[in-house]
Amino acid sequence: MIGILANNIIRIGVANSISIETGFDPVDAIEYAKRHHFELVQIFLNPELLSKPEILERIRVEQSSFHNIYFHASGYFNVDFFNSKYRDLLYSCIASFNTPHFIIHFDENYDFVQTLYLAKEGSVIDKIYIENYFNSIGKSASFKNISRYIELFASNFAGIELLPVVDIPRFFHAKTGFSIDESLQQFAELITGISRINLPVLLHIIDCNDPMQSRESFCSVGEGYIPYPQIIDLLNQSDIIIEGIILEYEDKINPLSSRNLLEQLFREQKVE
Ligand SMILES: [Zn+2]
Repeated sequence: MIGILANNIIRIGVANSISIETGFDPVDAIEYAKRHHFELVQIFLNPELLSKPEILERIRVEQSSFHNIYFHASGYFNVDFFNSKYRDLLYSCIASFNTPHFIIHFDENYDFVQTLYLAKEGSVIDKIYIENYFNSIGKSASFKNISRYIELFASNFAGIELLPVVDIPRFFHAKTGFSIDESLQQFAELITGISRINLPVLLHIIDCNDPMQSRESFCSVGEGYIPYPQIIDLLNQSDIIIEGIILEYEDKINPLSSRNLLEQLFREQKVE
């Protein structure tokens, strides 16, 4: 069985990290994405950007140029975030977009039940995307983190749509203490857990040469140490629906070559 329907295209986009040279300018990232026909854009909506109404208006106007513009919030999915002034400002900003939603990092150190109650109160928001994130170091903490992350989606009783954003490189980070095989196994377990509850997934992708994933070691997908052919094979073997892929590079060359390889890998395996 293959996870991707024969005529189902995988939507690929870039994060505004690609515009690092222009101070992460979202408008620059949007222009680049349009020029290169990316269907998705992800914008880091930090407090600084929230204070720039003219740029936010420009982003609002550009919504029609893309299949989706994702907003990445700063902070973690926890009580501190929901009680913050920043969260108030964030909600009033994104409420005026076509599909109010944001991405935020998972917090392994918090009890998410209380957080879910708070999340429900912010009813102007349709969807919260929660991205896997590790603060701890070592294998046992990483195992625990991943199972808690799956548990969060399985126990979604809050009446708010929670969706997983899976940062693939994070499974292969040296801090996890996993071997490549163990990382693949954990990734597979997550994908199985998520497809069991029928949730689509948004993927975050980069490749790099250094298991500490320093920015200087970023390279095109397929040229680094992260085993993307096996990862895509795993995705295709599962029933999971891939909502999209965001390339989180800090340059404007790697996204183009990475997109080519990803499209090729998904296509090749589709034919099998
Ligand atoms: Zn990410």
